[in-house]
Amino acid sequence: MFFHRKDLIVPVEVKNPDPAYAQFLLQQFGGATGELTAALQYWVQSFHCDNIGIRDMLQDIALEEFSHLEVVGKLIEQHTKGVDKIEADAYRSPLFALRGRGPHFIDDSGNSWTSSYINEGGDVVRDLRADIAAEGGARQTYEELLKRAKDDGTKRALHHLLTREISHTKMFMKALDSLGKLTEPAFGNVKPDETVNIYYHMSSNGAPQRGPWNQEPEFTYIADPVKEAGHLEHAGHARRSG
Ligand code: MN
Ligand code: MN
Repeated sequence: MFFHRKDLIVPVEVKNPDPAYAQFLLQQFGGATGELTAALQYWVQSFHCDNIGIRDMLQDIALEEFSHLEVVGKLIEQHTKGVDKIEADAYRSPLFALRGRGPHFIDDSGNSWTSSYINEGGDVVRDLRADIAAEGGARQTYEELLKRAKDDGTKRALHHLLTREISHTKMFMKALDSLGKLTEPAFGNVKPDETVNIYYHMSSNGAPQRGPWNQEPEFTYIADPVKEAGHLEHAGHARRSG
């Protein structure tokens, strides 16, 4: 059951409307990294999560994302309002000139929102990792929007939205940690084969780059997989017999 309170989660007061800027904001309304994507992703994930606490968190954050969608919608509404006074500016954005004022479920380039933006399915660990990535995308878009914002009210609202995406990232990371899966790559019921800790140096031009992602003792570094073809054959054999 849903109720809607008409108060915004953060105040929106645009003093200097700019339809060209509103077009940028569409990315967070009907774009891949936008609030509709986040809200629907966490909401649908909650239906296949058996962990009661994490299901509740997904639904709480989904509803907060709907509140963010409302804020972005309100920002776009205010930035495209009063076109009579700023007619010249209003038509700097062909999207609003053709489709009318206020938000639409398209991104800044006019692409329609699609459910293929949503990353979900099958396992809570997989879903939570997708959610951390989604929050990263949203946070980065808000940073780019903030850089380009000239209106103080717009900046205040966007700063809050950016902050909350960091909060959600923390919550998803804690939830993964509570499952023991924040730093544990494997999940599910199939045990990896014996190649699990082999690093193949496959892309080569000069000195190999080494780091914690390919260092002993955790990893076995295969500097020349062609010369040491046995390892690749071994991997192929392990896959076939696994
Ligand atoms: Mn959000
Ligand atoms: Mn978020």
